[in-house]
Amino acid sequence: MAARHPIYDADSETIREQIRRFCAREIEPHAEAWEEEGIFPRELYAKAGAAGILGLGFPEEYGGAGGGITYYCLVREELARTGFAGVRVGLMGLGIALPPILKLGSEEMKRRIAPEVLSGEKISALAISEPEGGSDVANLRTTARREGDEYIVNGEKTFISSGVRADYMTVAVRTGGPGMAGISLLVVEGDRPGISRTNLKKSGWWTSDTGHIHFDDVRVPASNLLGEENGGFKGIMNNFNLERLGIAASLIGSSRCCYEEAVRYAHERRTFGKLLAEHQVVRHKLVDMATGIQAMEGMLDNLVWRVTGGETCIAEIAMLKSFCGATHERIASEAVQIFGGAGIIRGHKVERIFRESKILSIGGGSSEVMKDLASRHLGWSA
Ligand SMILES: Cc1cc2nc3c(=O)[nH]c(=O)nc-3n(C[C@H](O)[C@H](O)[C@H](O)COP(=O)(O)OP(=O)(O)OC[C@H]3O[C@@H](n4cnc5c(N)ncnc54)[C@H](O)[C@@H]3O)c2cc1C
Repeated sequence: MAARHPIYDADSETIREQIRRFCAREIEPHAEAWEEEGIFPRELYAKAGAAGILGLGFPEEYGGAGGGITYYCLVREELARTGFAGVRVGLMGLGIALPPILKLGSEEMKRRIAPEVLSGEKISALAISEPEGGSDVANLRTTARREGDEYIVNGEKTFISSGVRADYMTVAVRTGGPGMAGISLLVVEGDRPGISRTNLKKSGWWTSDTGHIHFDDVRVPASNLLGEENGGFKGIMNNFNLERLGIAASLIGSSRCCYEEAVRYAHERRTFGKLLAEHQVVRHKLVDMATGIQAMEGMLDNLVWRVTGGETCIAEIAMLKSFCGATHERIASEAVQIFGGAGIIRGHKVERIFRESKILSIGGGSSEVMKDLASRHLGWSA
């Protein structure tokens, strides 16, 4: 089969196959039960670490498997293709928590934390969002006050993926005055005194815990600071760009799952003496789904190629994220429509994906905020 874009060489196709085999062996047979029970087996981290899956996209010198942004996206797409987003999010939280450490952290921190996380021994999470607002990052309220060789952290974070079980949290804190110029990034170990965490119940992604975290006078060594004090906002924004490419890849994988499920069902189910696929209306729905997937893939692959080449592409990534969110919502909805009543019954992948399909139009930057961001970077904003 021809690779879909020159960014995918023969090696990346081999890796794609390896991930699919891992998913078929370690995820697909169990994930429905994990999802219903709301559990994530900790040993899956170690298995994914040993298979090299956690390290895809990360530098080899820190325990990664290399491959840059191409592999970063590829692994998310393939995990999402299983239809079990909760498992993907549980495994891939490191994809947003670790890059700021590798980009801005001290050499000692990189060598200590990255191999533990990429091997699956330790879990990491990114904690930016707060109860008072997730979109308005520049106005976050959690403080870190310097006292001697330590920071003392006070405040709250919410909606944090893997926030309950994380051993390391990459936390956005206010170390200076108001606005974006007073924000820093700090690594906070999960077992520090003064941290309390609760799991939030949510409409989907039941395998992935979503933490509400309180920091009450939590003492953290000043050496845990990432980059310059009060210079964290740029690091957060750069990290969002990577996260959004990964989210687009996940939405493509999940859309493909919906499409493949719908194609299969349309060739099994008969109405009015014909297979569903023999009704023109249903065929058109399937073609519309395939068209959406093709458009998303084209946008993502082009941007992976451009960003790998050194471009920043802020507006284009924001547009990609909002486009993929809306396209995925539509594809998930049409897949349920093709399944009819069966699409509403638990146990079908399309039921779960549809129920979860709003999440990534909100998380990682809502569609409205993405379009606003794009408008500021397209050169004509009011
Ligand atoms: C399941 C899940 C997992 C998550 N995981 C993480 C995580 O790991 N780490 C983390 O830090 N965060 C995480 N988040 C938080 C997520 O990033 C935020 O929910 C998101 O950024 C939106 O923030 P908010 O929920 O506070 O909504 P708000 O900022 O309160 O916005 C509410 C609504 O108003 C709209 N809105 C806001 N401002 C504007 C504007 N200027 N113009 C037009 N419309 C606007 C928004 O689009 C949205 O529709 C997660 C969220 C979910 C649901």
